Amino acid sequence: MRSDGKTGVVVLGSTGSIGRQALDVIDKYRDRFSLLGIAAYNEAALLQEQIAKFQPRMVNVTDQRAYMALKAGLPAGTGLSLGMEAMCELAAWPEADIVLVAVSGAIGIEPTLTAIAAGKRVALANKETLVAAGDLVMHRAAREGVMILPVDSEHSAIFQCLAGEEAHLHKIWLTASGGPFRGYSPQQMRNVTVAMTLKHPTWMMGPKITVDSATLMNKGLEVIEAHHLFKVDYDSIEVVVHRESVVHSLVEFTDGSFLGHLGPHDMRIPIQYALTYPERMESPAVGLDLTALGALHFEKPDRASFPALDLAYQAGKAGGTMPAVMNAANEVAVSAFLAQQLSFMGIVDVVTAVMEKQHQKAASDLETILAADRWARKESEMIIQQLAAKRV
Ligand code: NDP
Ligand code: MG
Repeated sequence: MRSDGKTGVVVLGSTGSIGRQALDVIDKYRDRFSLLGIAAYNEAALLQEQIAKFQPRMVNVTDQRAYMALKAGLPAGTGLSLGMEAMCELAAWPEADIVLVAVSGAIGIEPTLTAIAAGKRVALANKETLVAAGDLVMHRAAREGVMILPVDSEHSAIFQCLAGEEAHLHKIWLTASGGPFRGYSPQQMRNVTVAMTLKHPTWMMGPKITVDSATLMNKGLEVIEAHHLFKVDYDSIEVVVHRESVVHSLVEFTDGSFLGHLGPHDMRIPIQYALTYPERMESPAVGLDLTALGALHFEKPDRASFPALDLAYQAGKAGGTMPAVMNAANEVAVSAFLAQQLSFMGIVDVVTAVMEKQHQKAASDLETILAADRWARKESEMIIQQLAAKRV
């Protein structure tokens, strides 16, 4: 807590979908929070607006051009830094109490570890960090006595349902909307376009996670995320498709009781909870009208049409560097799909091919994980090029 009594917050990925909603929450509770630092990749115009509104002490960008564009117009008292090392410094900002990690992709690993080492509470939206480096992150957090508060709606739900009853947990039930292609045949999936994929039925999110939601890789990543956050075996994590996205997830206890978490689908709710925990503040969202909803539906995921889900279970159970490899291959494949260099079905093909090439290694240290990530990115790029060459 700072001398003015406010909670100091750093938001990494402030220009993204989660980041912007986090700034909305902070703006609503200015008497409670002070936004000390923000980081993004290159969205200079939006950063300029955020700087003018919040006057953070430090702004970090990764892109050199954005750095130059911002440098000219900084208000007094706001510093500017460039690159990953400086993003890590921001994650360890002395006056910060909470670091919200809302960058997209495995680039979240290093700043998350730095925030933990500096004893900061981490509000973690960035699931790729736990997928690639879950053992290391959770081990370091336990060692430093640092809390990792999940922002992902399913994990926030599970965290709230569990509420200290881990000893009686039987199963975790992760809900999935099923994405825009729920019920599609493999034939229909062959003709899926980028525009069709970016239209998610219930959530408005960044492009990478929206594609992951369509392949169900997002749910696969969340299975691995849940394994690390709640120390649960993969056989005790089930996925259930629930198209209304109202039940955000459930826990099943050993006595047969289920506790589920319901709410409107508005990410500001789990973001706010991660920032105010253990307190609850007035909702930023429109309330839920259960009678208007009428019914809630639950069904088994179609594992044959959406093989990414089983790939993630496979990677998670293999452990070691395999989840980092799977995640990196998926990041590269999703980018290629968004750039129209790879088909929708090609995403899982690339991830499968790269996982089949990987020799299992223990993921005991950061360098091994980052090396596996780099290796998988190169392999994926090669495979995507080979696939493209075959097409012409
Ligand atoms: P977006 O793509 O909307 O935003 C990503 C943010 O990260 C942007 O601020 C972007 O900056 C920044 N960023 C990307 N790459 C870099 C980099 N190399 N260096 C510095 N900053 C970078 O993603 P979302 O907000 O949708 O998702 C963020 C994370 O939260 C993901 O891990 C996602 O899985 C997770 N999540 C998201 C949910 C959602 O509803 N959106 C729900 C649950 C989890 P710039 O804008 O400058 O490119
Ligand atoms: Mg989620």
